[in-house]
This record gives sequence, C-alpha cells and structure tokens, in this order.
Amino acid sequence: MNMRKKFLLVAISTFLCLLVLVLFIIRSSTVTAPKTTTASEPQTARTLPRDTTPDTFDSSLHSIDQPGSPWWIVNKNRPLPAGYIPGDLAVPNVSLRLTASSEQMKLSASIIPSVESFFGAADAAGVPLTFASGYRSEVYQTQLYNGYVARDGQAAADRYSAKPGTSEHQTGLAFDICVRGSACELTTDFASTQAGKWVVEHAHEHGLIIHYLQGKESFTGYDHEPWHLRFVGKELASELKKNGQALEEFLLD
Ligand SMILES: [Zn+2]
Repeated sequence: MNMRKKFLLVAISTFLCLLVLVLFIIRSSTVTAPKTTTASEPQTARTLPRDTTPDTFDSSLHSIDQPGSPWWIVNKNRPLPAGYIPGDLAVPNVSLRLTASSEQMKLSASIIPSVESFFGAADAAGVPLTFASGYRSEVYQTQLYNGYVARDGQAAADRYSAKPGTSEHQTGLAFDICVRGSACELTTDFASTQAGKWVVEHAHEHGLIIHYLQGKESFTGYDHEPWHLRFVGKELASELKKNGQALEEFLLD
C-alpha cells in the first residue's frame, strides 16, 4: 500500500467515524426530547388522584332528609316534620347554664359523647365553655320567635331567629355555647374571644361545625353565629373546615 492509498483510507475511516458520531448525537437528542414529555405525563397522572382527594368524599354516606341523620339539613326552606321531638333526648355531663331538668339542657343522646369530648378538650386547652342551650321544642321556639318579632319586627327577627318548626335546635343535633363564667350573651363578640378562636380551630375534631358562618348567609339563611354548633360527624366536619364551606353549600349545591 502506498502512502497515497494509506492517507485515503485514514481519511475515509475518520469521515465514517465522524458521521457515526454525528448521527448518534442527532438520534440521542431527538430521543431525549420526547422522553421529557413522556416522563412528565405519568407524573401528572400520578399526582392527579392526590389532588382530587376532596372529590372522592362520599356525599351520599348519610341522608340529608331523614330526621335524626347526622347530615339532616333543617333550615328556613327545609322544615322539620310537624311537632317533631327527638326520641333520645338526654342531658350531657358538661357545664350547664340552666338546671339539668330544663328542656333546653337536652340533646339527642347520639351526639352526647362528641359533645362531652368537645367540652373536655376546651377545658384542657384552658378555654372553659358552658352549654347555653340545646334542644328547643316547637312550643318554646314559638314563644321565642313571637317575642323577637314583637321586639324587633319580623324582618329583623327572621335574620337571627327561626320560625317555629324550622329551628335546628329542635333536631337535638345543635346547641349554643358561651364562655364559662360570662353573662352568656350570644353575640358575635364571642368569635374574637380566646374560646371563640379555639372553637373555630378544634370543633371539627369532635364532629362539630359552626353552622352559621360569616359570609355564608345566602346558603344558611342566618347571620354569623359563632356560638351555634351543629353535629355532623368528624368526616364531614373536617371536610367543611378544609373547604371553608357551610353545610348547605357543600351538600345542597
Ligand atoms: Zn343556636
């Protein structure tokens, strides 16, 4: 092989090597591009179930129509059956505003364990509460409502008091609280007390919600009542707290 032939052979092999290298680079760059897209797709798919966890909440777990159901919705548009009286009224073992024999110191026995754990936790947190008012009969609600109408007029009374047969207190699943040792006046000032703030943060841990939230009047039909609690169970209470939603907003909308 002469020098000229040798040179040609080296030149051709160098060219071929370079060609293979260039082809390899082009190929690997086109393969990496789609790889990034395919890699991000399953990632999105994998995070989706976690993001949609709230949507997996089973909203049909309990009836919203059945009297006594923890999710029973009673409001101005959804009255109780005429003359309804819960069949299991009992007095919780907590700090009571009135004597234990008073009708208003009763609740549905089904929620009493949760109510007692709630009052116990408030005590432990250094924000002792008093049970101001629980069950109200239709007869008592009639007296209350008529008194409010006489004092403030019907339009004003309807914003804070229920017409007889539409009060959540009649279900035995709702009650009012106040700061222990206070005059027990039910005003929105309660929200800015230490106890009121504790209730906002911890009621759901005992299956309770502040039903009449600020800014949710169009759903609930009532002004803000930071002292009025309603039992719905831990699962729904936590869901409502997480979403910042009212009972009607979440279950009826
Ligand atoms: Zn109330």
